[in-house]
Amino acid sequence: MKRFGGQRVLVTGGAGFLGSHLCDRLLDEGADVLCVDNFFTGSKKNILSIMDNSYFELLRHDVTFPLYVEVDKIFNLACPASPIHYQYDPVQTTKTSVHGAINMLGLAKRVRAKIMQASTSEVYGDPQVHPQPEQYWGHVNIIGPRSCYDEGKRCAETLFFDYHRQHRLRIKVARIFNTYGPRMHPNDGRVVSNFIVQALRGEPITVYGDGLQTRSFCYVDDMVEGFLQLMQSPDDFLGPVNLGNPGEFTMLELANKVIDMTHSVSKLVFVPLPTDDPRQRRPDISLAKEKLRWEPRIALDEGLRRTIDYFDTVLREN
Ligand code: NAD
Ligand code: UDP
Repeated sequence: MKRFGGQRVLVTGGAGFLGSHLCDRLLDEGADVLCVDNFFTGSKKNILSIMDNSYFELLRHDVTFPLYVEVDKIFNLACPASPIHYQYDPVQTTKTSVHGAINMLGLAKRVRAKIMQASTSEVYGDPQVHPQPEQYWGHVNIIGPRSCYDEGKRCAETLFFDYHRQHRLRIKVARIFNTYGPRMHPNDGRVVSNFIVQALRGEPITVYGDGLQTRSFCYVDDMVEGFLQLMQSPDDFLGPVNLGNPGEFTMLELANKVIDMTHSVSKLVFVPLPTDDPRQRRPDISLAKEKLRWEPRIALDEGLRRTIDYFDTVLREN
């Protein structure tokens, strides 16, 4: 049984890392997919293999402008996700989250589509509650360099819930924790791609701060399955729901794992910690387990192996 058979599904940010994997899976699930992207961080390379599929359509468009299309479901993923990219033009980042949400919610309201927002663990900021459950309101700097992203995503969640209360819109909010895998941008500065690329090139591995800060890494296939299950969940389940892998690692542990797995000669170098870098992060996924029967299946070692293979190929081609 194909879960999205015959449905018209819009994926904003569909040429990005997560969006392109989601487009692949939706096509497998029988959907008619419309990918909207302005190619700020996304790339045609990510969707090359599906470009000639008759059930796939690509539209170059910036979600900060209104969009008039007819669809049944919307996954709103458009937004740069790595600190380097979202801090490059912070005003545009906030606009993408806030104006983008208003435009996509307006579209959903007009065509009565169900809509899912790609929110983030960054709504918890530098959390003082650990692990983070959905009830935690977070600890976010309002005016720092990460705020354009964190506050933009928080405001988008507010808009989703107001559209639900005010217009009875069918909404879903996923709080995504650090996700990695093939098609991450090799230069986007996120830790998994940085460490793998540095290790494969034999360059120094840049550990920010003392490397004792923690993150929990989810493999992309698990995350995309979470999106599909959330979208298909009953209408009275709105979220917000944490999606992520609860396995928690320090950046030093990650660096050493990557060096071992790549048999690299790279050495660690310690560089200053960026401002407001969260000290710890791990999702409490009890809600996702209970409501979606979802939990990640791919352990870090296996996910890293697949991601290393991907970057190895990419680096050899360039
Ligand atoms: P990405 O940068 O690879 O993808 C984002 C996509 O959105 C890109 O294709 C980009 O070109 C597009 N985009 C950006 N601004 C746009 C605009 N104004 N109009 C149209 N398209 C625009 O990042 P990703 O990792 O695939 O993240 C996808 C979504 O998931 C984002 O909303 C991000 O905030 C969220 N998220 C990701 C992670 C993660 O670890 N990957 C964690 C938390 C949340
Ligand atoms: N980090 C690091 N070296 C790098 C890139 C990142 O030590 O080359 C650290 C960063 O300081 C943070 C963690 O890795 O503590 C995750 O960073 P990333 O940018 O991937 O995600 P986020 O901070 O948004 O969770």
